[in-house]
Amino acid sequence: MSRVEERERETFRQEDKSKGDGGNWMKMEFESVSENEELARVVAAVFASRLNPTLEEMDDIKTAVSEAVTNAIRHGYREKVGSIVMEMQLEASCFQVTVSDTGVGIADIKKAMEPMYTSDPEGESAGMGFSFMEAFMDTLEVDSVPGKGTRVTMTKAIGRQNL
Ligand code: ATP
Ligand code: MG
Repeated sequence: MSRVEERERETFRQEDKSKGDGGNWMKMEFESVSENEELARVVAAVFASRLNPTLEEMDDIKTAVSEAVTNAIRHGYREKVGSIVMEMQLEASCFQVTVSDTGVGIADIKKAMEPMYTSDPEGESAGMGFSFMEAFMDTLEVDSVPGKGTRVTMTKAIGRQNL
């Protein structure tokens, strides 16, 4: 098989991934400017609504996504503008979202996740973002490499009242 054919095959495989599961997966990339925090929050809510969540579950997802995206904008890229990728997946009655940046990264993840810890005590940060993500979602995983970036993955079971 030629290189071109191989690449075409790869392209089709990716298309299959996005369409084949019945629209259960999506990925979007946007710039780290504060207007996009609202964009990410709304897209996450609309996508998650396919699982028929309660208003409360929807609000929890919006808050958690908003905190993760705000962190990428404020801490990941600081005064610079970079790219943020948000990926979401629906499986059975579970919602999963990943927010990734290629910003400064986090040296001590455990410390960063402590309630009320902030690296920006002078500013408007209360150090509660990760605590909110943990409280409003079922699972929270933070992967980060200093100088390379941060990836936050969260899941939440939705619509348990429907089971
Ligand atoms: P708040 O969310 O209450 O406004 P905060 O953002 O400081 O305050 P957290 O969201 O809990 O609090 O984050 C804690 C710390 O983790 C931040 O102060 C920052 O140092 C670090 N951090 C979080 N997300 C990122 C990221 N994407 N890139 C780099 N550092 C991050
Ligand atoms: Mg925060």
